[in-house]
Amino acid sequence: MAQKRDYYEVLGVSKNATDDELKKAYRRLAKKYHPDANPDNKEEAEKKFKEVNEAYETLSDKQKRQMYDQFGFDGPNYAGGSQGGGYYSYGSGFDGFGDFGDLGDIFSSFFGGGSSRSRARSRNGMAKGADLKVGIDITFEESYLGVEKEITINRNEKCPSCNGTGAAKGTKPETCPNCKGTGTVRQVASTPFGRMETQRTCNNCGGTGTVINSPCLDCKGKGTVRKAKKIKVKIPEGIDDGQTIVLQSEGEPGKNGGPDGDLYIVVRVKKHNIFSRKAEHVLCEIPITFTMATLGGEVEIPMVNGTKEKYKIPEGTATGTKFVLKNKGFKSVSGNWRGDYVFTVTVQVPKRLTTEQRNLLVELAKTMNEQPPIKKKGIFG
Ligand SMILES: [Zn+2]
Ligand SMILES: [Zn+2]
Repeated sequence: MAQKRDYYEVLGVSKNATDDELKKAYRRLAKKYHPDANPDNKEEAEKKFKEVNEAYETLSDKQKRQMYDQFGFDGPNYAGGSQGGGYYSYGSGFDGFGDFGDLGDIFSSFFGGGSSRSRARSRNGMAKGADLKVGIDITFEESYLGVEKEITINRNEKCPSCNGTGAAKGTKPETCPNCKGTGTVRQVASTPFGRMETQRTCNNCGGTGTVINSPCLDCKGKGTVRKAKKIKVKIPEGIDDGQTIVLQSEGEPGKNGGPDGDLYIVVRVKKHNIFSRKAEHVLCEIPITFTMATLGGEVEIPMVNGTKEKYKIPEGTATGTKFVLKNKGFKSVSGNWRGDYVFTVTVQVPKRLTTEQRNLLVELAKTMNEQPPIKKKGIFG
């Protein structure tokens, strides 16, 4: 284990530092080394953060400081712990969180635990609003062209009567007597490693630090009311079935100053009678007569946007042949390019012929003088 650094050195103060100087140094360093403030160097920052905490924990306590000054790390009352036990025991020198202003937030996120859930909820009950998810149905053409839709969602909104505070008109939420407004209750336990302090959310106020004695009549103290809200959604050209559009801050309102949740809109594209989609390509089957397949000719191809394109089918086109109209497919939602329009011809064999047609074909057959080769399906593909 690495040699422990002198506590005064850790905080960058002199041996004669006053309580105020200690506190100032500590605030500055705790902020600087907070792991959340050092996303690129979390591990190192966390180590430093613990070191700073441990140093402050000892030096801010008169008795501990005296012991430390006299005996160093071997002091009989030294409880900072050699394994980073100082981590949780930042207790005795703290004269309440209120004094630390924005540092309170640092602690709440740091000591709140590793999961994002507890991080999202800080000591004053600040929390991001819930995300909402809705589905929207659009037609194939709309997915091709892009469209603006209006959807109605049921969500909670800040109560206009109490402006979200939950307190009746003329009253204010009061400071919670149980936690004195901090939203958390500290618990001290004696362990073999020394005094350990942990904190949990205050039961009385649910972590908000305030209680409402006369609740707002409109929202019954919740601060929010349920409303049907109309929202315009711009659905981009080229969007595919199952893709999601995220509207930031259109979800449930945040709690106690926390950010609003987001709205997730899942787009469902209805099936089309004649078109289908593969990646950014439009696929279509175009039936042609067997005479056109044989002689060639011009066909009209229906486009997704409602227009028609003429296309010259070459003579001797077999059924199943694919033709490509370049860049006539879907626009990519992520880039400035388009897929293709790919159509497959299916040769229609007439089921009924007039006598005249039949005779013509018989004449034709005579001139061909030959049986068509037998297709060996399944063996040669
Ligand atoms: Zn209200
Ligand atoms: Zn409370």
